[in-house]
Amino acid sequence: MFRALILNDGSGKCVAGIGELDESSLPAGNVTVAVEYSCVNYKDGLVVTGAGGLVKRYPHVPGIDFAGTVLESTHHSWKPGDKVVLTGWRVGEVQWGGLAQKARVNGDWLVPLPAGLTTRQAMAIGTAGFTAMLAVVALEAHGLTPASGEVLVTGAGGGVGSVSVATLAKRGYQVTASTGRVDIHDYLKGLGAATVIDRSSFEASPARPLEGERWAGCVDSVGGNTLARVLAQSKYGASVAAVGLAGGARLEHTVIPFLLRGVNLLGIDSVMCPRERRVAAWNRIREDLPLKDLESMVVETGLADVPRIAADILNGKVRGRVVVNVNTA
Ligand code: NDP
Repeated sequence: MFRALILNDGSGKCVAGIGELDESSLPAGNVTVAVEYSCVNYKDGLVVTGAGGLVKRYPHVPGIDFAGTVLESTHHSWKPGDKVVLTGWRVGEVQWGGLAQKARVNGDWLVPLPAGLTTRQAMAIGTAGFTAMLAVVALEAHGLTPASGEVLVTGAGGGVGSVSVATLAKRGYQVTASTGRVDIHDYLKGLGAATVIDRSSFEASPARPLEGERWAGCVDSVGGNTLARVLAQSKYGASVAAVGLAGGARLEHTVIPFLLRGVNLLGIDSVMCPRERRVAAWNRIREDLPLKDLESMVVETGLADVPRIAADILNGKVRGRVVVNVNTA
């Protein structure tokens, strides 16, 4: 038997509670993992509260990320004792996930725990940090360098935002962090932001297709009007990595920044990202994300606290990253 956060569909409302499960109830898969840590991402917020309608079958064990030790494997890449990390592949959404002491998945989806990281640190990074790195890699592949100019990170206080700020700063970029929270300006400066601005300056849709040129690059977790505004303010040849929709999924804009300024809008997907790119991004994280900055982003909790945090993350109240020790209450 093992402990898990279990979601049930109670009269149209998702009900979360801690329960005991038998190993035989785990989903099909060729690798069984003793989970040590999981974490709470924005998508976990949607799954655990039921807000996203992402889960089609209950009971369900959430947790889009986990890190732990292989217990059993019939997959050629893994043997008992291997330390592994899982993010994405719709685990925790269409199949049971990592907010439990055990998980079973397809071994193709696992990556080795990067050398020099603990399972806790891997989950402090999690999907949010991994996605931030995919965004930085994409921006640089489209020509961004520290000499290009100011780089904006929106939703900077969140998981993707915090890791983006710290990673870009470590790589020598001049980072401007946009946040709606005045009380986290010092935190963002501590992660390396040169400037912190209030997110209200991006909230209105752009009055003109082009505004004054400011941003050489951007990691955008917010979407909606914020993304439209960033595109209008992007410098000639700039790239914008569209990561999230914390502020809205709708993008209303003209194509003018693409045509007159050669601006690149780069889509970032962490869920189905191919394996080689995953392993490369994890190795880059190890090089580019200072572990002291990572630790300053982290709050650790246990399974029982996840439903509260899930609601908080959807309300933009979580700062940085929440790691979940699945072996504590
Ligand atoms: P968090 O909740 O940790 O961060 C989101 C941040 O966005 C908040 O902290 C807040 O930052 C800001 N924000 C929240 N609500 C609003 C709003 N209404 N208007 C403007 N800003 C807002 O989430 P994550 O960092 O985990 O994820 C960020 C986004 O990226 C989510 O939309 C998520 O779905 C998406 N995502 C996409 C992935 C992909 O593969 N493409 C992978 C991972 C995440 P502040 O308080 O500083 O303003």
